[in-house]
Amino acid sequence: MTQKTIDGKDVEEESIWSDGSFAETLGSEDMKTKMRTFHMKHDEEMDFNCSKCKIKISAHNKDWHNGMCDTCFNKEFFPED
Ligand SMILES: [Zn+2]
Repeated sequence: MTQKTIDGKDVEEESIWSDGSFAETLGSEDMKTKMRTFHMKHDEEMDFNCSKCKIKISAHNKDWHNGMCDTCFNKEFFPED
C-alpha cells in the first residue's frame, strides 16, 4: 500500500517513521512506548543503568539494546568483535 502526500508525491519511508504514523499502525502500546526512544541519540535521557556494568545508559539503550550499555551489548551479542 503506497501512501501519498496531498501534493501527490509518494511518502518516503523516512517520513513514515519520523512522524510516528507508522508506529501507530503497529497498534501495540508497548511498541508505541518503545518507538518514542527509537530515534533518540545514545546519550539522550541518560536516566537508566546498564544491567551488566551499572554505568549510565540512555533511554534508547534501555529499550533497544536489551538494557545494556553499548560495550556490554556488543560483548553479549557480538563477542567476536
Ligand atoms: Zn555495561
